[in-house]
Amino acid sequence: MNIVRWLERAARYHPEAAAVARGTSVHHTYHSLLRRVSWMASGLRNRFRLQPGDRVAVAMTNCVEAIETFYAIWHAGLVAVPMNAKLHPREFAYILDNSGAALCLCTDDLAEDIESVRADCPNLKAVIVVGSKDYKRLGPGDPIGLQDRAAGDIAWLFYTSGTTGRPKGASLSHRNLIEMTQSYLMEVDDPGLNAPILHAAPVSHGSGLYNFPFLLRAGIQIIPESGRYEPDETMALANHWRNMSMFLAPTMVKRLVEHPAASELKPGAIRTIVYGGGPMYVADIKQGMARFGDIFAQIYGQGESPMTITTLSRAEHMNRSHPRWEQRLASVGRAYAGVEVRITDENGVDLPEGEIGEIVVRGDVVMAGYWNDPAATAKSLRDGWLFTGDMGSFDADGFLSLKDRSKDMIISGGTNIYPREIEEVLLRHPAVLEASVVGRPHPEWGEEVVAFVVAGEGKQVAPAELDALCLGNIARFKRPKDYKFVASLPKNNYGKVLKTELRKLV
Ligand code: AMP
Repeated sequence: MNIVRWLERAARYHPEAAAVARGTSVHHTYHSLLRRVSWMASGLRNRFRLQPGDRVAVAMTNCVEAIETFYAIWHAGLVAVPMNAKLHPREFAYILDNSGAALCLCTDDLAEDIESVRADCPNLKAVIVVGSKDYKRLGPGDPIGLQDRAAGDIAWLFYTSGTTGRPKGASLSHRNLIEMTQSYLMEVDDPGLNAPILHAAPVSHGSGLYNFPFLLRAGIQIIPESGRYEPDETMALANHWRNMSMFLAPTMVKRLVEHPAASELKPGAIRTIVYGGGPMYVADIKQGMARFGDIFAQIYGQGESPMTITTLSRAEHMNRSHPRWEQRLASVGRAYAGVEVRITDENGVDLPEGEIGEIVVRGDVVMAGYWNDPAATAKSLRDGWLFTGDMGSFDADGFLSLKDRSKDMIISGGTNIYPREIEEVLLRHPAVLEASVVGRPHPEWGEEVVAFVVAGEGKQVAPAELDALCLGNIARFKRPKDYKFVASLPKNNYGKVLKTELRKLV
């Protein structure tokens, strides 16, 4: 089944409902979106002689055209290759070449970057800039019918954010996306008919994946006018549309919570903030709930099992009287119903409850493999299980604690130290805004713990205070041997802290 059936369905049952908005103005109803999508699909297929399964890259700063472009690609039976707008031209070149994209649709601000690497992408027939004559000529015209797709056919090549190496294209099928959507509606939140979702985070990644549950409910995809994440714009749009949902990385949640205008958010303006993609510290989520109330749900997933491995529901966030409430807040929740999750040792053997090992996942949401990369696929997919590269352990109630990725684990004196545990403690200090912990080579111990600390605006903190905090909360050997105070932490385009960069600094 082609996932665009959901667009047809919404257009048949709710033709006049708003489908896409720029800021506060409606750009498409479902009727006009489907019409535009089928025109564009015909333009893509006929003008460029593309065949079902051909790849079309999308390099766009968040904009309303990104939504119609994705659906036009799928309508035409093609494969979308969304690229993060903030990538370096060399990274664009890598993805364009690796995916063998035949076309690239981009926004004006990225056109020069894409053109500059065109010579390195032999399969690329054309670059079409949003708003240009070529873009407009993709419609109106003769619409084509919806192309039939098998559920296992690839819809989206999801390039991983590459915090630990070259990005890899997780091949996501229509079935994977359908399963992800149903899991969201069943276990994270069902927003009901015509509900709005704000794409404050890049639509090339998690926020874009979450368009589907809202499309299925004939909801409104709202693109901020700035095309970026601006906390005050986010709050103004939530106040305008009300009942808003959005997906944010934990660092984006923190910016929203700490924004001076946070108190202007009206009750009922935000329905749900789903966070994930990186660690949310207990101190931060508690601050978020104190500020905005019970609007949070967490997901843990990765491009290879999009948005869907475990979830910590809104109800679990609210369960304050539970004796293990804080431990649960520190966890990534329980496995979705549609996936099996195990913890294994390095030989793939199951580990008992409480023991830390690699998280492995199986289910209809799990990718078919990495595009054009059989070696990486064979490493990640074994006997039908996805080896996530993430370390974690289950507690007796089935809540999964995510430890750091195996590459970020510190081994000191032969003992494993998980940086997150130390970061959680440092963040309890009222003057600490952000903290990130890495290992530094040590002749005797192998590695020693070093903490990078960002102090809050106008605040100061002494290493001795942080030391005392650590000694009061965690084993002595885990305490950082050095504190480095920095103005900010290096982050990638999705707001994830780049520990590889921090390790270079020590
Ligand atoms: P990506 O495939 O680029 O979305 O990155 C996925 C990775 O982000 C996962 O493998 C985890 O290491 C991390 N991640 C995702 N969700 C969470 C979460 N809720 N808490 C902590 N880390 C997360």
